[in-house]
Amino acid sequence: MNPFDYHAPTSLQETFDLLDTYGEDAHLMAGGTALVLLMQQGLLQPGHVVGLQKVAELQGIRRLDDGGLQIRAMATHRQAEKSSAVQAYCPALVENFSHVATIRIRNQGTVGGNLAHADPAQDPPPMLIALGGEAVIASRDGERRVPLDEFFVDYFETAIKPGEVLLSIDLPPLPQGTRVTYKKFLPRTQDDYATVSVAAALKLGPDNTCEDVRVALGASATIPVHARNVESALKGQRLDAEKIKEAAALVRDEVDPLDDLRGSANYKREMARVWTQRALQELLDAGA
Ligand SMILES: Cc1cc2nc3c(=O)[nH]c(=O)nc-3n(C[C@H](O)[C@H](O)[C@H](O)COP(=O)(O)OP(=O)(O)OC[C@H]3O[C@@H](n4cnc5c(N)ncnc54)[C@H](O)[C@@H]3O)c2cc1C
Repeated sequence: MNPFDYHAPTSLQETFDLLDTYGEDAHLMAGGTALVLLMQQGLLQPGHVVGLQKVAELQGIRRLDDGGLQIRAMATHRQAEKSSAVQAYCPALVENFSHVATIRIRNQGTVGGNLAHADPAQDPPPMLIALGGEAVIASRDGERRVPLDEFFVDYFETAIKPGEVLLSIDLPPLPQGTRVTYKKFLPRTQDDYATVSVAAALKLGPDNTCEDVRVALGASATIPVHARNVESALKGQRLDAEKIKEAAALVRDEVDPLDDLRGSANYKREMARVWTQRALQELLDAGA
């Protein structure tokens, strides 16, 4: 690894100053689990690493006044998995964080670092999209909000611009009775990245009429996929196994998987359909 200077700001203001001073030669580091690998491989060679561990504004997880949830960027996956605020907001989100790698990585890796890293096979992004999350991005000029389904631009690329820092992920209140699930298809080992993953949130009305639904997939394209066509086919419909099967089949045209060591694109396309159907059927059956 090339030598670099390490900076440890304690506030966002100091962080912006460092980013201004060193420009393109500076790179932010949260837990370092992804960044250090890229530096070891020579893919990134910053002269200045700006560590975010001590930045006060980036710490913590809390319920918002409106009943939503705020996860600050430096919260680790393990903190999120163990948080009573996350548990009270949505138990399926706790389970989602427990699917990230191993306890060792979850203790070190942060939720903000995960989103900013933007590997499409990661677990939290589809779940946070299905919950309607927004990224709050801070810069010297103030804050801006980006819905998470617009945050991911391409493989390893997000809407975060130079000079900006991801501050938090804000989730809206979940309407009472919303059922949520996360399915991670892991045919190889339990601590692997997903071959395909599906997150779904469903709110049913009388007679199993779909009042609202959100579906998002991981490991199914170069960015997490918000499956809007599946959602449109379900909204307002009275749900049964046949309706769910028909809607899930639409996901085949929404995903665009890559061939890799976890399977061919065709195989993953079919697995996206299968796991979308299973996730939605599980949510329908949860009330039976
Ligand atoms: C062996 C291994 C297995 C893994 N398995 C899984 C898995 O099964 N599921 C899964 O979801 N993930 C998995 N991961 C990925 C892991 O979740 C990420 O590496 C981790 O979340 C990144 O967080 P970090 O704090 O270490 O980020 P860092 O490595 O410190 O940073 C990653 C990137 O984000 C940028 N960044 C960090 N914080 C901010 C911020 N606040 N604002 C702007 N940019 C920022 C950095 O500049 C860098 O480019 C695995 C990683 C490893 C090493």
